[in-house]
Amino acid sequence: MTTIEIHELKERISTPLKVVIIPHKNPDGDAIGSCLALYHYLKQYKCNPTVIAPNEFPDFLKWMPGADQILIHERQLDQATRCIKSAELVFTLDFNSLSRINGVAETLEQFKGDYVMIDHHQAPDSYAKYTYSDTAMSSTCEMVYNFIGMMADSQKITRDIATCLYTGIMTDTGSFRFPSTSSVTHRVVADLIDKGANNSEIHNAIYDTSSLDKLQLLGTALKNLVLLPQYNTVYITLSKEELALNNFKKGDTEGFVNYGLSLKGIKFAVIFIESQQEEIVKISLRSKGDFSVNDFARLHFSGGGHTNAAGGRSTISLEETVRKFKDLLPDYKNQLQ
Ligand code: 5GP
Ligand code: MN
Repeated sequence: MTTIEIHELKERISTPLKVVIIPHKNPDGDAIGSCLALYHYLKQYKCNPTVIAPNEFPDFLKWMPGADQILIHERQLDQATRCIKSAELVFTLDFNSLSRINGVAETLEQFKGDYVMIDHHQAPDSYAKYTYSDTAMSSTCEMVYNFIGMMADSQKITRDIATCLYTGIMTDTGSFRFPSTSSVTHRVVADLIDKGANNSEIHNAIYDTSSLDKLQLLGTALKNLVLLPQYNTVYITLSKEELALNNFKKGDTEGFVNYGLSLKGIKFAVIFIESQQEEIVKISLRSKGDFSVNDFARLHFSGGGHTNAAGGRSTISLEETVRKFKDLLPDYKNQLQ
């Protein structure tokens, strides 16, 4: 984003302005954290911001300040449509293509204003008038922190904003351990703690509030784990029936795929989850080192993301999806050594 664009945006938010802020579908900590931080920031101006999530978000994010103000497009369609129709500026956060918010994308056809994109995924689309895209960033939350800095408003970072930003940086970096975590990320996080984010309470609210059902579903997932030592790869499956048996709730499978990567020597871990609502299999892919799960997901499973963390989907059955996956591995044997 250029200095001129920053000036322009600052002028625009300094006059009464209707703003909508949208995270990606199935929003995670970084998506909700960045949207809510921006929401609290814009509220300090003459803006009237509304966060509209495409669909429900997990319970472990509902404690976040402002979370009770989020509209759910899927469930509150009329209200969300009215907001979008009258909006003058739409921020899209933590995704790179309007295809990541199908459902909302159709409603946005009635939106006549400008888009602002803040995102750290690869290959961003060019729909936004103002684009701040940087794939080297740990998280969109770190970028919103920078954005507020670029607007010369660091002093406007309140405890609520710091809490939201800390949450997203923590969740997207796997608690500050992924390679995307830079020394700058740690400096940002230090400043957020100084500004009132309670690191210990936030960690507890996100990671230590599991239900018994979730832990038992994790048990099922771990029992289903398959090791393919010749490819340094593991995969996990969860069928519709297994989800139902453990009273699956949105967000319950968050982080499961990382258990695969915790096995010694493993470079590639995948989880296949049969959707209960749609006729699809949702896929999460993680890697260590140079193996790009972004390329793999893009090429074979209509997805994408980052080098070491990506998502995708498949419209064939769970069994066929796993077979397709296993059939692809010999082509990647060298990369996975
Ligand atoms: P997760 O596996 O946690 O859903 O997603 C891992 C990363 O990949 C996140 O950064 C997420 O935004 C991205 N991602 C997940 N699903 C998709 C997808 O279908 N398409 C693209 N382009 N990115 C995805
Ligand atoms: Mn993110």
